[in-house]
Amino acid sequence: MGVAHDRRGPRERIEIASRDEIGALQLARLKTTLEHVYANVPHYRRAFEAQGVTPADLKSLEDLARFPFTSKGDLRDNYPFGMFAVPRERVVRVHASSGTTGKPTVVGYTQDDIDTWANLVARSIHAAGGRAGDIVHVAYGYGLFTGGLGAHYGAERLGCTVVPMSGGQTDKQLQLIADFRPDIIMVTPSYMLTLIDAMEQAGLDPRQSSLKLGIFGAEPWTEAMRAEMEARTGIDAVDIFGLSEVMGPGVANECVESKDGPVIWEDHFYPEIIDPDTGRVLPDGEPGELVITTLTKQALPVIRYRTRDLTRLLPPTSRSMRRIGKITGRSDDMLIIRGVNVFPTQIEEIVCALDGLAPHYLIHVDKDGHLDRIRIQVELRDESAAARRDALAHELAHRAKSLIGISAKVEVLDPQSIERVTIGKAKRVFDRRHEA
Ligand code: ADP
Repeated sequence: MGVAHDRRGPRERIEIASRDEIGALQLARLKTTLEHVYANVPHYRRAFEAQGVTPADLKSLEDLARFPFTSKGDLRDNYPFGMFAVPRERVVRVHASSGTTGKPTVVGYTQDDIDTWANLVARSIHAAGGRAGDIVHVAYGYGLFTGGLGAHYGAERLGCTVVPMSGGQTDKQLQLIADFRPDIIMVTPSYMLTLIDAMEQAGLDPRQSSLKLGIFGAEPWTEAMRAEMEARTGIDAVDIFGLSEVMGPGVANECVESKDGPVIWEDHFYPEIIDPDTGRVLPDGEPGELVITTLTKQALPVIRYRTRDLTRLLPPTSRSMRRIGKITGRSDDMLIIRGVNVFPTQIEEIVCALDGLAPHYLIHVDKDGHLDRIRIQVELRDESAAARRDALAHELAHRAKSLIGISAKVEVLDPQSIERVTIGKAKRVFDRRHEA
C-alpha cells in the first residue's frame, strides 16, 4: 500500500543544510531581489519610496518587515505586464491565475524561471515519494492555470513518464489509468474524489489500481479527507501547495515519510505569517496569513505577497526547511454566520468523520429576515445508510453546533445527488445573502 517509506532517495544538499546556511542564502538572495525590483519595476520603486525604504535598508532577514506588502490588487492595477522586472522579450511564458476571486492576474517567466519551477516541482514530487522512471498521470488542468504545465515540467525534469491528461473526461481518465498503469496521479483533491467514485461505480476497486501516490493541491483539503482518500485507494495522499503569483504549484510540498504539512522550499521563497488585520509579523507557530517573498524569480519577483491563505509556520522535520500547516482556507473563504467565523474545511472535517456520509458537501447561506441562515447538503455514502438518514442529519447538526458554534439545517440527500467536480477547483459555498 502506498509508496514504501524506504523510498527516501537522495535529497538536494540544500534541503538538509543547516539553518544558518539557509538563512545566509536567503539574505543574499533577498538583497539581490530587492535591488532587482527597485531598479526595474516602477511599482516597487514607488511603493518602497512611499514607505521610506531602499534595498540598502535590508541588513537582516527581519528587516524585510520594513518593506511594503504586495497584493493581488497591485498585480491587477499593473495588468497585464506592468509588474514584469525584465523586458517582455525575455519572458518565455505567461500564465494567469484561475480567477477564483475576480479578474485574472497575469504572471510571467523567463527561461531561468521555468527551469527553477521545473526543478522545484521535481523536488516536490521526489519529496512526495516519486522517482525517475515512474509514470505520472497529470489531471490538473492545462492552459493558463499553472497546475497542469507546472506538474508536467516538474515530472519530466525528475525523469518520469508524463501522461498530460488535463482535467475532465472522467471516463477517459479511468481508461488511461487502467491501460497506462501510472504510479502517480497529480490532481485536485476534489477531482480525485470524483475519479474514486467513478471507479467504484464502474465496478473497479480503486485499491487494485496501479496508483501508489497522489499529489493533491490547488485547493484546501483536510486531514479527514486524506484519511478518506487513502482508505479508499491505498495510495499515499500528499499535499502540494503553490500559487501563480509566487510561481505555481511546488512552492511547498509535503514529505511522504512525515505527512505533516508542506515544506516551504526556503531557498527560493521567504515565508512570513502576519496578522491579517494589523500586518504585524507573528512568531512561528501562530496562525495568520501567509506572506511570501520570492528569492530567485527574474520575470515576476514578488515582495511580501499577501496570499490570503491562513496557516501557520511550523518547525522543520523531514527537511531543514520550515513547513506550513494545512491551509484552513483563504481569508475570502471565511463565512461569518451570525457573528461566528466558519471555514468550509471545518465542515469538511465533520462530514468526513461521519460514517454513512459521502465526503461531498455544499454550503448554502442566505437570510431569514435579518438573520443569517446556513444549510448544509450532504449525501448518503450508499443505500445501506438510508435508515440512518435522520440520525445522521441530527448528528451533523449537533457537531456543527458544538464544534463550530453554528446552528445549521442539514439535508442528507440520496447517494450521488451532489454534482461532482470535473474541472477546476471545487465550489462548495453558495452565499446568497447579498442577493435579496
Ligand atoms: P486563484 O485560485 O487565486 O485564481 P491559483 O490557481 O494560483 O489562483 O491558486 C492558488 C491558491 O490555491 C492558493 O493561494 C491557495 O488558496 C490555493 N491552494 C493551492 N494549493 C493549496 C493546497 N495544497 N492547500 C490549500 N490551498 C491551496
